[in-house]
Amino acid sequence: MTHDVAVSGAKEIAGRVLAPAAAQNDKTGRFSTEAVESLGKSGLLGLTLPTELGGSGLGPRTFAAVTTALAEADASVAMVYLMHVLGTAAIRAARSGAALAVAPTLREIAAGRHLSTLAFSEAGSRSHFWTPISRARRNGGSVRITAQKSFVTSAGYAHSYIVSSLAPDGTGPTDSTLYLIPAATHGLSVAGPWDGLGLRANASAPVVLENCEVPSHFQLTEDGGGFEAMLNVVLPLFNLGTAAVALGLCRAAVAGTTAHLKSARFEHLGQSLGESLPTLRAQLAGMQIDTEGLAARIDDLIGHLEKPRETTMLRVLETKAAAGDIAIRVTSTAMRICGGAAFAKHMNIERLFRDAHAGAVMAPTGDVLREFIARALLGMPLF
Ligand SMILES: Cc1cc2nc3c(=O)[nH]c(=O)nc-3n(C[C@H](O)[C@H](O)[C@H](O)COP(=O)(O)OP(=O)(O)OC[C@H]3O[C@@H](n4cnc5c(N)ncnc54)[C@H](O)[C@@H]3O)c2cc1C
Repeated sequence: MTHDVAVSGAKEIAGRVLAPAAAQNDKTGRFSTEAVESLGKSGLLGLTLPTELGGSGLGPRTFAAVTTALAEADASVAMVYLMHVLGTAAIRAARSGAALAVAPTLREIAAGRHLSTLAFSEAGSRSHFWTPISRARRNGGSVRITAQKSFVTSAGYAHSYIVSSLAPDGTGPTDSTLYLIPAATHGLSVAGPWDGLGLRANASAPVVLENCEVPSHFQLTEDGGGFEAMLNVVLPLFNLGTAAVALGLCRAAVAGTTAHLKSARFEHLGQSLGESLPTLRAQLAGMQIDTEGLAARIDDLIGHLEKPRETTMLRVLETKAAAGDIAIRVTSTAMRICGGAAFAKHMNIERLFRDAHAGAVMAPTGDVLREFIARALLGMPLF
């Protein structure tokens, strides 16, 4: 599969499967299994895996474009896809002692039959996902994990979870290890419903692990190596992916607002809203400037990820922080421009507005990113 084929495939699925169902799935909080099935059949679930494993061997540029195309139609599905790609990256980066054992899972992903996700956040450490409260306990050659994971995207629908837990002998608060835990593992269960303000159709429910036995060949990182994997493998792609979701939301907001300004009319004036009110035109222009500014920022980050350099980590932090703010600003402006029609839910703008608020909340949150950026500039330690 080439970049262009992947992106047109994503657009086709977005138009045929996601867009017609997005409003109803949002209303009822229904996870779209049809969307995941379509993504699997089209080869997009294995997008980033190497061709030797049956994947397409494509990089961050295609991942971002595919995620944006999905988010334009349904940000919930785009977030499911994003978390799957991150889970896949964590499995793919497995230490040599686990490489053989995880190979069948990677082949299932490439074949489009396996959905993965991340279960990092815990109720106890909240958005500080890099400091799990749970600790794995040794049990002969395996470990046992008891943990309260919160906000796990695709909970109950994923075939595997990438779970963080403090290493059995770790001494510091970030000495975690990552494990691959199949959904069918005894002791793993979804512990509640997902009824969020936004991203309502992505099943971000709590997951409980009760004495889950994990064999050593499903230990993805060395003991205590989880933090490094979170930082180097997961964070760059997560921040890029959430920015790509934000861009999709902004583009959908610009398109929806433009269509409204053209079609809604002041019949007594014989003009459309767009023809009649310069203030609405100016606000629409602001939305467009913000949206394409975000696209340029994402492009810059992709360049940094393709050719890493000294400023790469700063760009990783900045892009998600900026994207969260921009998505909220653009969708808020869309709410104001579209007025009663948006408020009364006659159009998709209020869903975009609610979905946009998740980006800033998802860890590392916008506040934490700003704290890290300033600390980096001041030469202070980040953790
Ligand atoms: C839709 C959705 C999907 C998610 N999916 C996943 C998933 O798949 N896997 C996963 O592991 N997690 C996931 N999460 C969890 C997410 O990453 C956060 O861990 C979670 O939202 C906890 O947030 P909190 O507001 O409870 O955090 P809190 O830590 O209580 O934060 C509260 C406020 O304090 C601020 N704050 C916290 N620390 C600092 C600091 N050091 N400096 C400045 N401000 C700070 C925050 O920005 C926030 O405004 C998801 C969350 C959402 C909303």
